[in-house]
Amino acid sequence: MRNRTVYIKSFGCQMNKLDTALVGAALEEAGFCLTGSVKDADVVLINTCSVRQHAEDRVLSHLGRLKHLRKHRPEMVVGVIGCMAQRLGGQLLEHEAVDIVCGPAQIPQIADLIGQALDHRQKQIAVTERIRLPSPGGDVSLDSFELAHSLRVARLASREGIEEETARHDRRVACESAGRRYEGRTTNDVTPPGRAFVRVMRGCNYFCTYCIVPHVRGPEVCRPPEAVREQVKRLADEGVRQVTLLGQTVNSYKHRNGEKTYCLADLLDMTARVEGIEWVRFVTSYPADEFYEEIVRTMAAAPKVCRSLHMPAQSGSDRILRAMNRRYSAAHYLELIDRARAVVPDIAVAGDFIVGFPGETEEDFQATAELLRRARYRSCFVFKYSPRPGTSADRRLPDTVPDEIKQRRNVELLAIQERISAELNRAFLGRQVTVLVEGLSKKAHVNRADGENPPQLVGRTSTDHIVVFNGPVSLAGRFAQVRISRTAPLTLFGELSSDGR
Ligand code: SAM
Ligand code: SF4
Repeated sequence: MRNRTVYIKSFGCQMNKLDTALVGAALEEAGFCLTGSVKDADVVLINTCSVRQHAEDRVLSHLGRLKHLRKHRPEMVVGVIGCMAQRLGGQLLEHEAVDIVCGPAQIPQIADLIGQALDHRQKQIAVTERIRLPSPGGDVSLDSFELAHSLRVARLASREGIEEETARHDRRVACESAGRRYEGRTTNDVTPPGRAFVRVMRGCNYFCTYCIVPHVRGPEVCRPPEAVREQVKRLADEGVRQVTLLGQTVNSYKHRNGEKTYCLADLLDMTARVEGIEWVRFVTSYPADEFYEEIVRTMAAAPKVCRSLHMPAQSGSDRILRAMNRRYSAAHYLELIDRARAVVPDIAVAGDFIVGFPGETEEDFQATAELLRRARYRSCFVFKYSPRPGTSADRRLPDTVPDEIKQRRNVELLAIQERISAELNRAFLGRQVTVLVEGLSKKAHVNRADGENPPQLVGRTSTDHIVVFNGPVSLAGRFAQVRISRTAPLTLFGELSSDGR
């Protein structure tokens, strides 16, 4: 019998990207083949995000298209996994196109759920009943699922990643010479060779008033440091050179073991000491004093810890920060950035903002714009406030700011940031930087004159700056030296000076 094919569409944050990669690896192990084409798939999975309504709307419109496709392919099985599955549960199962609903904590069961749906044509649901209660047996099945399949993801990415990138380059050249735009995607877009994500904590206990995460990912649970170290060691054996430690508030990682309380700084140090690991990153940081000094000092002392800090501010108005239940003031936030820069002068900071939170006045917004100017971020994300059912902001505060104003504030903040990024990036002109190469750049856009369709690679510096340059595809997953010859607000462009470090 031929292997069944699965198409996986993924929305959302790095946690979701990791889950998508793990689910893909688990399904391959269970005998399914991954496909890049929804039309050929026996099974379609959508890994969903609930952070903003827009992300949920995109899933619903996808499901609408799948409902249509199913008229011609009634045997196709459609599954919704992730945060939206947990949030909507049985309601989602009633959708005509949906056969499986599987929450983030139930992904280890996904192959069985698909098997049941395929064999018995019966709808399947697996979600957590009471999401804020700690799971009775701990997260043992999630942990072993993650360990086993993260190794498989890394193995596939390092063995097949280069071949896949080479094939992609060939397809791009063929498309472009036929006058067509190339839009190919591969599993490498999720997990480029040489890099891996390692979740060090799940869930969140902060309860920012606008945020759905604590309601769909459950309470904060930190993995034991030995489990993290073991996973990193095994990933390094599979050729991984960079690990990113993941947590919603990763800097509040804490694990008690006898007399000692381990914090993120301990994990960074441990990870940096693993043979074969060259770079360690961590996301996302909550602006808080606890362990902060330890973390920036570890960064200063360990060159393998990347010079990058993603620490969302959300707003520059103390009044709005209080209404958001963020536990810091704008002044304290800026002081944290100053402290990090005093210890690690080359650190690059990135941020997130929400504009149009209920009751946000022009004065509040100007305070946010001022914070953004002062913070001098490498880059930042700006989101329009989206009311989330079940959150306390949605229950207590009407969504008063009209969409046109949210939109205007969003554009204004991004314009200020663009000027700052352009200015900061110009300082890279003429400098040689070390990059970890991810693979082919999505858009082909530099130095066309250098040769005929040279592969255009993309990589990132320790500070998480994106660098585009021409070079051989075989560099994917390896380090390279690139001399920067042109800069734009979001990207540095350069010439390969040498591979290796
Ligand atoms: N845990 C991280 C933190 O506390 O900074 C962020 C996690 S959240 C998944 C990613 C970003 O989405 C947040 O930093 C925030 O800017 C944005 N976000 C979360 N809820 C939102 C909402 N209801 N409307 C708009 N943006 C939202
Ligand atoms: Fe959401 Fe706040 Fe937790 Fe971040 S810290 S995940 S914004 S509740």
